[in-house]
Amino acid sequence: TYVVTENCIRCKYTDCVEVCPVDCFYEGPNFLVIHPDECIDCGLCEPECPADAILHEDDLSDAQQPYVELNAELAEVW
Ligand code: SF4
Repeated sequence: TYVVTENCIRCKYTDCVEVCPVDCFYEGPNFLVIHPDECIDCGLCEPECPADAILHEDDLSDAQQPYVELNAELAEVW
């Protein structure tokens, strides 16, 4: 699955939301998140993000690992 990371915080772009074929972006408190069970791994959103905030979960740095959990939690709640 793809994951939204720190560069998205307070980002105003929603280019990713527009290209997602399954509408799996959700609004968190100050950044967007991807619902991990709904994302079909198409990869369309990654190059669209002007902030380079979207990464495949396998490409996250150690510091970005918490975003996996955070995306999942916020996608369910918000
Ligand atoms: Fe949506 Fe595809 Fe991005 Fe997953 S990888 S969030 S399905 S655009």
